[in-house]
Amino acid sequence: VLTEIADGVFVRQSEFCLSNAIVVRGSDGALLVDPGVNGDDLAELADDLETMGLVPIVGFSTHPHWDHVLWDARFGDVVRYGTRECAETSAARIGELRDRAAEEAPGATLDLIGRIAALPESCTDVPLSGRTVQVVEHRAHAPGHAALLLPEPGVLVAGDMLSDVEIPLLHPSGPVQDLEYLAALDLLEAACGTTVGAVVPGHGSVARGPEIRSRIAADRAYLQALAEGVDPRDPRVGPDASYGTDWLPGAHESNARLVALRASSGLM
Ligand SMILES: [Zn+2]
Repeated sequence: VLTEIADGVFVRQSEFCLSNAIVVRGSDGALLVDPGVNGDDLAELADDLETMGLVPIVGFSTHPHWDHVLWDARFGDVVRYGTRECAETSAARIGELRDRAAEEAPGATLDLIGRIAALPESCTDVPLSGRTVQVVEHRAHAPGHAALLLPEPGVLVAGDMLSDVEIPLLHPSGPVQDLEYLAALDLLEAACGTTVGAVVPGHGSVARGPEIRSRIAADRAYLQALAEGVDPRDPRVGPDASYGTDWLPGAHESNARLVALRASSGLM
């Protein structure tokens, strides 16, 4: 079900990892961000778009991970943007993206995965008539990751950041990834300013009002604890967590190793 979370901004949540697809209504058509995962998701979203008269005219992928670069023929043959690094990484890893989707997303259209076009160098907005959609690029979680800021009506589409169910997931290749992650949190906090009233994470529930600040604070506290070598005692990987219990604890251990390595090498 597509739910309107702010004027002309809609979210549909998949069963798979509570993934959020986002639709932004412009004056001539809609922007579709990270559409969903398996074939049923994509078909249901296409049905909802049809019922609601929302016609995608442009797409956007927040980052080049397989669950964020899917598409379906029913959304139309429109340009799907990402940052330059997102487009390049998707093109370079297209086989890997298809393999993951083939394994984990039954019914997804494999030959439409990862066809991402780089936004022109000078372009800091996703083109959508009647709307301002600013691209906020950073280096946390994945190369070429970007959030989208809609100053009006005050929504941040966060990509895989600021989740209530996932801890920060560090990209394993970067030696200073926790520092880059903290810098990205600063960037997103500044983007939210005092006007953003809703934040849509890639996975989990929409944050509203004061919860936005508490999510930023929780992610910072998690990373700072790792840097200090102490247990973050984060409920998202605690004994009461119900999401991702088969993989999040492993991701948490990888995070801890990565940050410990960075801290001991003196990089800052
Ligand atoms: Zn994701």
